[in-house]
Amino acid sequence: MRRDCNNRCRFCPLAPGVALAGGDEGTLGERVAAARAQGASRLVLAGGEPTLADELIGAVARARALGVTDVVVQTNGRRLAYRGYAASLVAAGVTALEVSLHGPNKAVHDYHTRVPNSFRQTLAGLEHVVSTGASVLVTMTVTRSNVHLLRSMVVLVGSIGVRLLRMSSCVPLGRAPPSLMPRLALARDYLGVAAREAQRQAVSLAVSHLPPCALPESSLSVLVSDADLALGTYGPSCVGCLARSCCCGVAAAYAELYGTAELRPLMRPRSSDTPAIDLERCASGPLAACARG
Ligand code: SF4
Ligand code: SF4
Repeated sequence: MRRDCNNRCRFCPLAPGVALAGGDEGTLGERVAAARAQGASRLVLAGGEPTLADELIGAVARARALGVTDVVVQTNGRRLAYRGYAASLVAAGVTALEVSLHGPNKAVHDYHTRVPNSFRQTLAGLEHVVSTGASVLVTMTVTRSNVHLLRSMVVLVGSIGVRLLRMSSCVPLGRAPPSLMPRLALARDYLGVAAREAQRQAVSLAVSHLPPCALPESSLSVLVSDADLALGTYGPSCVGCLARSCCCGVAAAYAELYGTAELRPLMRPRSSDTPAIDLERCASGPLAACARG
């Protein structure tokens, strides 16, 4: 929708010159109507920060009136701290809110957003939209500075009544320096702890931008996009890995910094008593049950 934002995240992928998906010609309402005219039944309104646009609520209502069945808003959640605004957005017909939260406390979240008090506002916003009964997903960008707090994130998210949490590894796009990426071995260990906590809290956990071999051997959903696949870099040990065809690999900058020795190919079927990694794109293929070699 737009490039501007009231956060200044250290890992923001929106660099000047990056094209906006869906273009930026015309008013938001006109772009929504044009997308619907082209057959869109699902809209994702993202930023920068979409709630900075005063036309957002009207555009959501217009989309629903035109017959769009799914309207998702991706937001940093700060404006949702105003209870009336949050209620109006949900009442306009938003079907799901994806709210970004990058740490379980003020110090860690505000460090990542570089905006004092952004944690307090985002948390209040989350509580407001949860109280409306709206469908809410929390998205966390995992960096070297918060990877040790994945379990605490699950606890926090569960405590406010959110049941979906996506942990997306930092990728060096936009203003994100490669040094902010978490080490794969650390991510694997902390994700294992987080996955066990998620089961206790009845929180569904999804992971993106990490290769399957960086996941613990527990039930986690892996989100792999075509863009991920196009960006991936692989190592010698990837040859013959059962996950290769649907693996995002690692960012080239990661391989340059740390090499690929951490990559461990998935080579053999899991035993029946081992929870399977649910590979979203390959769930019906040979990867439905595989384990590290
Ligand atoms: S909230 Fe999103 S758009 Fe805003 S600075 Fe952070 S990553 Fe960028
Ligand atoms: S070893 Fe397999 S899972 Fe790991 S990066 Fe290579 S192809 Fe992906």
